[in-house]
Amino acid sequence: MITSRRPGPAERLRRMHDQLTQAYGPQHWWPAETPFEVILGAYLTQNTAWKAVERSLANLRAAGALTVEGLRSIPVEELWRCIRPSGFFTRKAPALKAFVAMLDAEFGGSLQVLGATPTAVLRPRLLALPGVGPETADAILLYALGHAVPVADEYLRRIVERHGLVARTSGPKNYRALTELTCQAFDADPNADHARLFNQFHALTVAVGKAHCGRAARCEGCPLAEDLQHAK
Ligand code: SF4
Repeated sequence: MITSRRPGPAERLRRMHDQLTQAYGPQHWWPAETPFEVILGAYLTQNTAWKAVERSLANLRAAGALTVEGLRSIPVEELWRCIRPSGFFTRKAPALKAFVAMLDAEFGGSLQVLGATPTAVLRPRLLALPGVGPETADAILLYALGHAVPVADEYLRRIVERHGLVARTSGPKNYRALTELTCQAFDADPNADHARLFNQFHALTVAVGKAHCGRAARCEGCPLAEDLQHAK
């Protein structure tokens, strides 16, 4: 008797990547011109829509503060004014200043030196900074510094929970479950491709999340609808 094998969660997630790539194509993330702009965006986008981040980045550009030097020298009250559109500006401004202070004190003010630090050392260092949680740290590592680490967010959580790929949990345990599943999904791909694949996969899940998988799921016409047949 021939029985069809049930694909596992990692295999299904890998297939989802392919289906999303076919539907949406290359995403060319992160939307920024320089690695430092990526870092600023990763902080500013916390609890905020990207449109608001764009207004803050435009203010920072006009104030000459889109560079390490610019952010180092801008007075904190002026920084508040620039990033006010992103919300939580009294917390985000000192957090950004703390990032530059760390860069200066421990990495000679150089993003190249920072980026050359092994992931196993750098990730905990970033997580020890004020205002940096796992998603922000991993976005900085992947999109600004090119480290091969997956990024998980609310969109990915909704997708994998709705498809029954991970159990519903919350907090750090949930974040870890999502990133571990992503690593497993791309485990068979060459190591040299992981940074590119993680980059593209996160961008694709944001794209499908915005188009279909928000607070309410709009499954009709969604590129991932076929996988729902496997959901428990
Ligand atoms: S909208 Fe439906 S099919 Fe699309 S990812 Fe969400 S749950 Fe899956």
